[in-house]
Amino acid sequence: MPPLKICFVSSEVVPFVKAGGLGDVSGALGKYLSRKGHDIRVFMPYYSSIDTRSLPVQVVEFLQNVPVHFGGFTLYFTALTAKLPDSECEVYFIHCEGLYNRSKIYTDEGDEYLRFALLSRAAIECCQRMGWGPDIFHCNDWQTALIPLYLKTIYQWDGLFKQSKTVLTIHNIGYQGMFSAEAVDKLMFGGYRHMLPPEDLGAGMINYLKLGIIYTDLITTVSPTYAQEIQTAEYGSGLHQMLEYRKYRLAGILNGVDYHEWSPENDPYIPHKYSMEDFSGKEKNKKALLERMDLPYDPDAPVYGIISRLTWQKGFELLYEVLGDILSNYELRFVVLGSGEDKYTRFFQSARDQFPGKLAFYNGYHIELSHWIEAGSDMFVMPSRYEPCGLNQIYSLKYGTVPIVRKTGGLADTVQLYDWVTQAGTGFVFEYFNGDSLRWAIDYAFNTFHNKAAWQKIMHNGMAQNFSWEVQVEKYIELYEKLKSW
Ligand code: ADP
Repeated sequence: MPPLKICFVSSEVVPFVKAGGLGDVSGALGKYLSRKGHDIRVFMPYYSSIDTRSLPVQVVEFLQNVPVHFGGFTLYFTALTAKLPDSECEVYFIHCEGLYNRSKIYTDEGDEYLRFALLSRAAIECCQRMGWGPDIFHCNDWQTALIPLYLKTIYQWDGLFKQSKTVLTIHNIGYQGMFSAEAVDKLMFGGYRHMLPPEDLGAGMINYLKLGIIYTDLITTVSPTYAQEIQTAEYGSGLHQMLEYRKYRLAGILNGVDYHEWSPENDPYIPHKYSMEDFSGKEKNKKALLERMDLPYDPDAPVYGIISRLTWQKGFELLYEVLGDILSNYELRFVVLGSGEDKYTRFFQSARDQFPGKLAFYNGYHIELSHWIEAGSDMFVMPSRYEPCGLNQIYSLKYGTVPIVRKTGGLADTVQLYDWVTQAGTGFVFEYFNGDSLRWAIDYAFNTFHNKAAWQKIMHNGMAQNFSWEVQVEKYIELYEKLKSW
């Protein structure tokens, strides 16, 4: 098979900028696809927050001050380029001072619609000037979801893209890019109103993600279960009917993990390395974690870890119902790392004040501590309302930290309920979003923990799982190849 030509467009790419899982996926796909010999070129904004000191960026001679015409005005961009670390993958940074010099990568400002429309257009314009017709345009989330429609409208004349196919990956359907319909003319869709959903125009709005879902050749999302869930009213955030209609063009591919960064054998952050063959370092990490968090160590008291954005999605309301009771009655510890909405931080702060020897809470974003928690906890709690893929439960499996998760999205695809008869399974999975169900899972885990042989088996089952990018990237290649031949 000849190498694939992939134009990958994303608003986040690790290690340059990350707000969530999207950044991880973009960086990993760039790296792993180029390692497999494919010609993948990644396009992203040149945000002012990107640290250029350690980045040898170069201006691309023929991509300077490129004009992009919008309805009634023109924007100019310059492309700079650098390689993704440890790979040959070229990243093109789209530099447009007026749009990307902001204190945050995502804003509530009036030109948000334009910031990412420019990124989408600039990626296409760069391809034109490079004389490079990609086999695949891979778009990610609402920010780049206009690309398929642009290719079918104002760039339709260009034979360079005649064979190009489009893929749109939905990383989180909760964010759709909805703007006033006043943007339609400015975006250059004025002459193509017949291609925009009349119900949206009637309501005076335009929805970028919806347009991507309608016009892309293929939709992917980041786990097979989430691909099913978003076709239902409960999880589809208003787009379920459109997704159901396009279900034969919808696939779920789990995100992978970079085990160079996340495995207890290699992890440079943790005090004691350990492996599936020798767990002994794990207990030492537990001791070190508890000492660091000012909690007393007791080998018989399991440590429940949490690392999370503190938002509605993550389902911590369920803990409101159960935490007080288990902290009062059980000999256990909770170590919580997270930042986000006030109501959740207040909840964990007050639990810490009420149970000082049992629960520790670090309010903030702390990479080293997140590795310590993975290594030093016995269990990891994720009671999410919805979870497109989720990464922490996958890290937890590798660290022998047994996940307690709700059966939704990627959590359902990566953790199997432990069966105490056959001793198969990798974690404690509850189905219904209510306190009793979570309580059942926490109790089941607590009781199993005290059966040392069973616990070692469950840890072992989890550590043997392999969700590496090496495996997952092959699924994208297979999909691109199939799409190319359509
Ligand atoms: P989401 O993308 O919805 O936030 P994921 O589980 O897919 O959830 O990915 C979250 C990533 O962010 C993980 O790598 C996790 O370790 C990291 N993370 C989340 N909150 C924190 C925090 N407070 N400190 C350090 N890392 C965090």
